[in-house]
Amino acid sequence: MPTSAAGRAGLAMLIQREPSPLRRGEKVPKADPSWQVRRMSASLRRAGLSVGLLDEDSTQGSPPPTANGQPTTTQPVIIAGMIVTARLTFSAAHRLHNPNRDAAWNRAMYDKCDNPNGHGHNYALEVSVKGTIDPETGMVIDLKRLKDIMRERVVDHVDHTNLNEDVGFLRGTIPTAENLARSFWRELAPAIPQGELYEIVLEETERNSVRYRGEDET
Ligand SMILES: [Zn+2]
Repeated sequence: MPTSAAGRAGLAMLIQREPSPLRRGEKVPKADPSWQVRRMSASLRRAGLSVGLLDEDSTQGSPPPTANGQPTTTQPVIIAGMIVTARLTFSAAHRLHNPNRDAAWNRAMYDKCDNPNGHGHNYALEVSVKGTIDPETGMVIDLKRLKDIMRERVVDHVDHTNLNEDVGFLRGTIPTAENLARSFWRELAPAIPQGELYEIVLEETERNSVRYRGEDET
């Protein structure tokens, strides 16, 4: 269920009477508020599901009559969450080393990643936000705004740095991809203005990535 104010506002037009799905080739102005829902309805029908248009006045009493004068049957209402993703890249150096363990343990655990002078990666950070489509903008969140938040809260702090030494919010953290993703989540979650932070994917190399959905956050 949507929890944001924008999500609840979007809900105001979702329920009760099922719109006719958008037909192939049918022209409806995108400014028409039913356009998104009718388009979604067509997709959901193909998946065997349905979506409704909420008419606030019709949520009480008898269902409104259809075009042929018969009352509509109650349709299942599906509030479809939409997930949007922004991706940015940055470069940084790190050394994987646990100062609480001896040199032999660190070498055995991290191998070359424990080299004293560190090494670098070209990271890719993907941030996904989940929410409902704002009927006024047609968007869950403005992706330009989301990228600005990613830069302000994370990328500008870590790009071209030594992750072991230079980043305040990583101090005391072994900068594995797992720990980076969790720290990034904590920096980003309070700044997401619409929808909710859904997932972070951090690629350390083109072969290695971690995915975090905030399960451990309170
Ligand atoms: Zn590394």
